[in-house]
Amino acid sequence: MKAMILEKICDLAECAEPLRLEDLPDPVPGGGEILVRVSACGVCHTELDEIEGRTPPPLLPVVPGHQVVGRVEKAGPGARRFRNGDRVGVGWIHSACGRCDYCTSGLENLCADFRATGRDVNGGYAELMTVPESHAFPIPGIFTDVEAAPLLCAGAIGYRSMALTRISGIKKLGLTGFGASGHLVLKMVRHRFPDMEVFVFARSPGEREFALELGAVWAGDTINTSPEKLDAIIDTTPVWKPVVEALRNLAPGGRLVINAIRKEDSDKDYLLNIDYAEHLWMEKEIKSVANVAGSDIAGFLELAAEVPIRPETEVYPLEDANRALVELKQRKIRGAKVLKLD
Ligand SMILES: [Zn+2]
Ligand SMILES: [Zn+2]
Repeated sequence: MKAMILEKICDLAECAEPLRLEDLPDPVPGGGEILVRVSACGVCHTELDEIEGRTPPPLLPVVPGHQVVGRVEKAGPGARRFRNGDRVGVGWIHSACGRCDYCTSGLENLCADFRATGRDVNGGYAELMTVPESHAFPIPGIFTDVEAAPLLCAGAIGYRSMALTRISGIKKLGLTGFGASGHLVLKMVRHRFPDMEVFVFARSPGEREFALELGAVWAGDTINTSPEKLDAIIDTTPVWKPVVEALRNLAPGGRLVINAIRKEDSDKDYLLNIDYAEHLWMEKEIKSVANVAGSDIAGFLELAAEVPIRPETEVYPLEDANRALVELKQRKIRGAKVLKLD
């Protein structure tokens, strides 16, 4: 099979082609697994964290990609959930132990044996991949393959982030950073909580304009002060400045939810700007989002179909994965980037 593989950790500012097109042997589904023929795979910021070594794959080479849509090609021994030809999606969660206290209480995203698609095992930047059938999700019929791909990570983790804000109790929500996940959260909020006001902080004018088009009541730069204090803010940026600035814009008792697997160190010194009285006092709190549970993916897909939420996408052929990654790094973003396979 054709696959784009990551062979070594590198800085994308110095290597424009971190992945290499390779012909690999077709994977074989093990017990309880299915073999999926991939038709689309979303490009996620987490791939940059893998390539640049902030959350490095434990073994190289690896095939990245964890927003995978495809069709079941073959079932491994004991796998009975799907029939050949069924359309399924695979997200960041490839497997977890299934037995620990976290797994048995719906928090498999926190399991010590959490294994991530496209980092700990081969993912979807390839023609074929395998996954436990328990972590493959049927895709609602109203979505095309390309539309469904970003729902599996950006959407599912946006859904988890929203829940962690204690969404039903809030009136004013902030989003700092407005890429793939942020724009899906805004669409979700507009439909589920039409009275909620959403304030967007984004560095690029294009992203701010896009946020207003999608129904944000206000859009400003990351360092701007919002016209009102906010009950909760979701941060989807890779850096620290927006965290500090978001804390300043929170209302008393407000919660900042950081949806990032890793933060870059480039502006870490900005944290020294934290003033306890201004940024943290008055019972403000910070909560991070880690991974996704299967219930986030299933729950979000159901909600996305009901609304419906269709992501804005930019499509690239598999061979152009490097270009998609570099453009993501350079923040040339409008919606979600998706690799399409023939
Ligand atoms: Zn992702
Ligand atoms: Zn577990």
